[in-house]
Parts: sequence; C-alpha cells; structure tokens
Amino acid sequence: MSTELAERLDAIQLIDHHVHSVLATSPDRADFEQLITESDRPAPAGTTQFDSQVGFAIRRHCGARLGLDPDATADEYWTRRTSFPEAELVRRFLGGAGVDHWLVDSGWDGGRLLPLDQLRNQVTGRVGEILRLETLLETVAAGATASTLHRDFVTALTEAQPGVVGLKSIVAYRYGFDFEPDCPSESEIRQAAGRWLATAAASGPFRVDDPVLLRMLLWEGVRTGLPLQLHAGYGDPDLELHRCDPLLLTRWIKAVEPTGTKLMLLHCYPFHRNAGFLAHAFPHVYLDVGLTVNYTGAASAAVIRESLELAPFAKILYSSDAWGPPELHFLGARLWRRGITAVLAEWVAAGEWSTTDAIRVATMIGRSNAERVYGLADDE
Ligand SMILES: [Zn+2]
Repeated sequence: MSTELAERLDAIQLIDHHVHSVLATSPDRADFEQLITESDRPAPAGTTQFDSQVGFAIRRHCGARLGLDPDATADEYWTRRTSFPEAELVRRFLGGAGVDHWLVDSGWDGGRLLPLDQLRNQVTGRVGEILRLETLLETVAAGATASTLHRDFVTALTEAQPGVVGLKSIVAYRYGFDFEPDCPSESEIRQAAGRWLATAAASGPFRVDDPVLLRMLLWEGVRTGLPLQLHAGYGDPDLELHRCDPLLLTRWIKAVEPTGTKLMLLHCYPFHRNAGFLAHAFPHVYLDVGLTVNYTGAASAAVIRESLELAPFAKILYSSDAWGPPELHFLGARLWRRGITAVLAEWVAAGEWSTTDAIRVATMIGRSNAERVYGLADDE
C-alpha cells in the first residue's frame, strides 16, 4: 500500500457530521457492554458484547490508545479503562480522532451524556448542534392545545434556528418510512394533535408517534431549508428494520425535491446501496455509513467500498454516530480511515485511480462535503 496515500488520509481533519455527546460519568462493565451494542436487551448469560466486531475493534484500536498491546483481552482492556477518569478518556479518545468539528444531535441523551456546553469545554474542535424535530415537538406539547400545537411548534423551530446547523428526524423509529408523502392539511394536523395530546395526557410523557404529526414535522423541517438528517437502516430494536429502507421514501424525496432542501440519510445499513441509488438519482440526497463502520469493525472496509458504488463522491459524508463511550467517537474515525485507505489504495494499485484523486475524494467525504452542505466554511 502506498505510504503516501495512507499518511495523507491519516492527516485529514474530519468533520463528524452526525454524532452525540459523551458519557458524563464512568460506566460499570455491564453498563459499558450495553453501550457497545445497538440491542437494548442483555447479552445471553455466559456471553459478552466484547465478542463482536465492535468489541474486537475497541480492544485492538482503543486499547492501543490506552497503552495496551494489540492482543489485550477484554478483561485487560476493562482493567486499564477503569484506571482513567472519564474526562481523561474523553481527552484521549476525542483528541485522537483527528476530528475538528462535531455536529452533535442533542435530541436524546437518556440523562447520561454531557450537555453541549460542557462538551465544548472538553474537546479541542468546534461543536455545532443538530436539532431533533420530534424532541422539539415533545417539548412544546406540554403547553399546547390541539389548535395551537402546530403554531407553537413553528414558533419554537423559528426561534431555535439561528443556533443550529441542521435538523434531524427519527420518523424511521417512530413510524417507518412508509408514510403518506404529502404535507398534511391544517385540519388533519388539528385532529391528530387533539388525539395525541389527549392520549399523552393520560399515559405519561409525550412521545410523538402519530404519522400525521410526524409528517408535519418533516415538512416544517424541509421549509427551513436547513439540511435534514434522517435515521435510515438499522438501529436499536425500537425500530422495524423492514420499514426503514430509504427506498420507501422515494415519493417523499420527489415531493421535497423542488424545495432544494438537502436530505441526509444516516447509517443506511443494510440498505446503503439503496441509499447510494437515491443519492445518485436525486441532487438533494446524501448518505453516510456512520454507526455501521463501528459495528462492522474489521469488516467495515467492505461497507465503505459499497457506499462508493453508485453515490457520487460529493454526496457521501463521514460520521461516527458515536453515543456515550468516547471509544466510539475515536473508533469511528480510526476505522473509517483504515477502511477508506484500504479501498482507495486498491484502486490506485490497480491503476484505476491516481493517488491525487484518491486523496481528493477522501477529503471530500471526510470534510469538504460537510463544509459545503452545512455551510461550515463560511462561519470560520
Ligand atoms: Zn445518532
């Protein structure tokens, strides 16, 4: 492999365009193991989540960051980890990621993550905020009635806009992508709001899963003109994966196209090739394979390669989708660099690509596509 290529790709300062904050306090071992899987169920008795691609990758790559040998066991990793305060782990792992700009989804922290202002003090790079539409609606719902909910939401969204670089929707989790593509009418929204507020008042915390209200959120998000991130593909078992194939969004994607609002399909696995088609076909569709890279570990180069099939190179972005343990923020960057280097080096060696083009495309995916889409270069 060309060392020039590997060195140049290692040196790219990345923009992590979809990520969450880090743990506020150190987890215990059982807790940590629950944080390195997308399942919310415990591992079967007698097994460990370390016996997985992400577990192996943590031992191999994060262990080295803590001064361990590459063949350190899970127990050795854990013992070493517990010798550091969480803030030091954040410093080592986030500081070692080569990321100088984090676009943080502030929509869900489970009461466990550092607030954004504290994260800003702990990391060297810049921190931008991505606003989650469902969370904002749930926040305004407490003071709303069926006839004010829509207006209250739009007011809150307008007020929040100057402080954020993009929006996020988890309609994939709350309903699925097989929703009616059109913007719902005012009377449909009022009726849905009445039903939802009455149910939520009776059954506890607000959790929007009404398809009419979810469509209202999407369309109001589109109207802002800010890039709109959509969770797509796999995640925790709260979703039904067969309803999270981004191809199910095709009619909605066509309906959004005239607005020019950019749609950022996140994760996408195992539908990343379908997402690649959508990015190929529609000028306003982009994708990443964040989350997937961490969870496929040593196999992640294959996924990165597949993400580089149909999608134009200007439509692919880097993200880690790390949430919680700072290992994941580091690992996303480390595995992405290894994967993209392996894939591009092969094409250079085969005489298909020049080294110059390989470096240029990796820089687009790792950084400059995000700068352009989110307008980040303008406000340096
Ligand atoms: Zn995420």
